[in-house]
Amino acid sequence: MRVLLSAGPTREAIDPVRYISNRSSGRMGYALAEAAIALGHEVDLVSGPVSLPAPEGLHAFEQVVSAAEMSEAMKRLAPAADLIVMCAAVADYRPANVASSKIKKGADSISLELVKTEDILASLGSLKKPGQTLVGFAAETDDLLQNATVKMMKKNLDWIAANDVSRSDRGFDSGSNAVTLLSRDGRRLDLPLQSKREIANAILSAVLA
Ligand code: C5P
Repeated sequence: MRVLLSAGPTREAIDPVRYISNRSSGRMGYALAEAAIALGHEVDLVSGPVSLPAPEGLHAFEQVVSAAEMSEAMKRLAPAADLIVMCAAVADYRPANVASSKIKKGADSISLELVKTEDILASLGSLKKPGQTLVGFAAETDDLLQNATVKMMKKNLDWIAANDVSRSDRGFDSGSNAVTLLSRDGRRLDLPLQSKREIANAILSAVLA
């Protein structure tokens, strides 16, 4: 199978030296890549800036910075993929204007106008081909399963991994995770706290079954 994964955060530039980002370490997506390679699949990984070594045995490894770059890479690679897992923590907003030189300290308060980025997963959902499986993640601090279900339906996903990020022992920037996997056809799989590699194996065995 051809498996396309995204991982890590995106960075949205404010000026040449500053950006907006988030705490994603990329470990869940890299664990999925390693697990999929170990199962013998052909794996393409599109990664935001992380401090992890590239998994060995990738078919393609594309390093991107912004949501716009991630979108371009994902849409280019998606048509060949049997399974797409969008694990990246894509910035929802980016600065409306990127200053061409470093913003100088001056006024006591300044404000930054933000505009929405493209929802890459929703775009992949609208471009989904018959036979292609599309999986998203939902990192939530409140109403986890309800919000995840709404996202799965709205973005035309087959599965969503709902991830409680209100606790420090799991999810963002942690080596372990606990997720509830929900399918469009009503299946529910609770994966209790375990390593991200074990979670990755469980997700792949469920969605590839
Ligand atoms: O709606 P929300 O951002 O919480 O949905 C999370 C899912 O959507 C994740 O799979 C994430 O990779 C994806 N996403 C995306 N593009 C965005 C924001 C989120 O693909 N701009």
